[in-house]
Amino acid sequence: MTGPLDQPIVLASGNPKKLAEMREILGAIGLEIVGLNDLNLDLVEPEETGTTFAENARIKAVGYAEQTGRACLADDSGLVVDALGGEPGVYSARYSEDEHPGDLQRVDRDRFNNEKLLRKLADRRVEERTARFICAMCLVTPVADKSTQILAETQGTFEGVIGLPGDVPRGSNGFGYDPLFLVKPDLTRTSAELSPSEKHTLSHRGFAARAIAEKLHALKP
Ligand code: IMP
Repeated sequence: MTGPLDQPIVLASGNPKKLAEMREILGAIGLEIVGLNDLNLDLVEPEETGTTFAENARIKAVGYAEQTGRACLADDSGLVVDALGGEPGVYSARYSEDEHPGDLQRVDRDRFNNEKLLRKLADRRVEERTARFICAMCLVTPVADKSTQILAETQGTFEGVIGLPGDVPRGSNGFGYDPLFLVKPDLTRTSAELSPSEKHTLSHRGFAARAIAEKLHALKP
């Protein structure tokens, strides 16, 4: 008999760059994933009402596993800046929502977010600009009677510093806040200047995904 884990896992995200990163990270360890858009289903995006990355990852994984009847892996990630009391945190994608007309392309939204972050940190010295990316992941599988079961939950972090204006933005790889994020311990390159494979080795998403894969291998007979 085949079960939901015998088919490629569905990545519960509409972000093509995240899907590409996850394909590379999980592909390197032999796990195949498909995107939501590959399923050709009419899906309703679950509302991210959680106050933590872990809660939002769970909401998305459960919501899409219920709708697709497939094993779903969701991630929720963002940037936590110490001097801003943890902002933008779970609001990372929507940080500058109050400053633009809405409905922007991802690349324009990222630019607004980055400008807002640099402005908020304008009076902070480099020692006060410590930050980290956090990624929570949740793998959920459908079980009988349209209910679901959480198979694995993991979290990864990636430490760095938000560069000073003039020194950043730098680099054209990655997405989101990558051009502002100087990678610890060297602080010489932003995460947008890392090659994709270097970023996957060091990143919050890489750690969280490899931990999911380990748990999954432990579950498979
Ligand atoms: P999510 O799609 O709700 O998980 O939102 C994640 C947001 O956090 C993205 O839109 C980015 O702004 C930010 N973010 C998460 N991971 C990264 C990363 O690896 N690099 C840069 N920004 C990231």
